[in-house]
Amino acid sequence: MSQAGEQGTLFVISAPSGAGKTSLVAEMLKNDAKLGVSISHTTRPMREGEQDGVNYHFVSRDEFEAMIARGDFLEHADVFGNYYGTSQVWVRETLARGEDVILEIDWQGAEQVRRLIPECVSIFIVPPSAEVLRERLTGRGTDAPDVVERRLREATEECSHALEFDYLVVNDDFQVALADLLAIVRSQRLRMQVQQVRHRDLLAGLSGKA
Ligand code: 5GP
Repeated sequence: MSQAGEQGTLFVISAPSGAGKTSLVAEMLKNDAKLGVSISHTTRPMREGEQDGVNYHFVSRDEFEAMIARGDFLEHADVFGNYYGTSQVWVRETLARGEDVILEIDWQGAEQVRRLIPECVSIFIVPPSAEVLRERLTGRGTDAPDVVERRLREATEECSHALEFDYLVVNDDFQVALADLLAIVRSQRLRMQVQQVRHRDLLAGLSGKA
């Protein structure tokens, strides 16, 4: 249970595709029971192996546009032709319960969230080199060259916004990148701004103000 007034921290994580973001976030959740991830809404078609309500809430463009009109989204963006958005209510209620929340969103969403919730902590994940990124995006060589080229262009565009983020994590060794991400979360929880609420009674007692 969180004490009255204790707010969770919002972590915004962005990366070009091929940086390993989704696997790293999945591992963060396994390592830290106090972290939750927001499940976005999207209009993009479901990929093989994905489940509605688990990876995304898959909705039609009409449904998505109705949600925009109702103000259901904290942020939303058109990412390479498909809509993606974060539920306003879920994020605000989860933070208000004192739980920490991760948003896995693109740079456009990160920009909007920074404006709305300036105390959020933003993290950008990159692969160790442009060659590794190319290898990861080229995959098994089964995709058409124009598909690979488009993915590379999209990745380059995402990376051009890296400097707007608070932290940079390089995913060369997966375990090192995971430890870096967990360290960012842990250090955030130790900040005085957070701790003085969580340990109000302790601090009052220790400073003779109880
Ligand atoms: P994918 O379709 O490969 O799962 O995701 C494509 C891009 O959309 C990724 O950069 C991902 O982070 C981003 N994305 C996923 N959910 C959201 C969201 O709710 N809002 C925004 N702005 N971007 C999102």
